[in-house]
Amino acid sequence: MKRFTCDELAEQLTAYLDDALDQPTRAGVRAHLSGCEGCARFLDQFRATVRALGDQPPEKLSAPVRDRLMSAFRERHP
Ligand SMILES: [Zn+2]
Repeated sequence: MKRFTCDELAEQLTAYLDDALDQPTRAGVRAHLSGCEGCARFLDQFRATVRALGDQPPEKLSAPVRDRLMSAFRERHP
């Protein structure tokens, strides 16, 4: 199982939501999320944003939306 820092986790989230990760990576993401409240909340926010945009696959999010989410994440994890 891989271990992620919060920054590395953010890079994996779109693939995670799109079910595109291999098993060890996915397990590592899950483990991080279960132990890190900040990232778990970020994931909720990310999901809510994706839903608000009409159920598009995360990798189809426009660059500005993705940037906004990522900068929200970085502010939470200085
Ligand atoms: Zn984290």
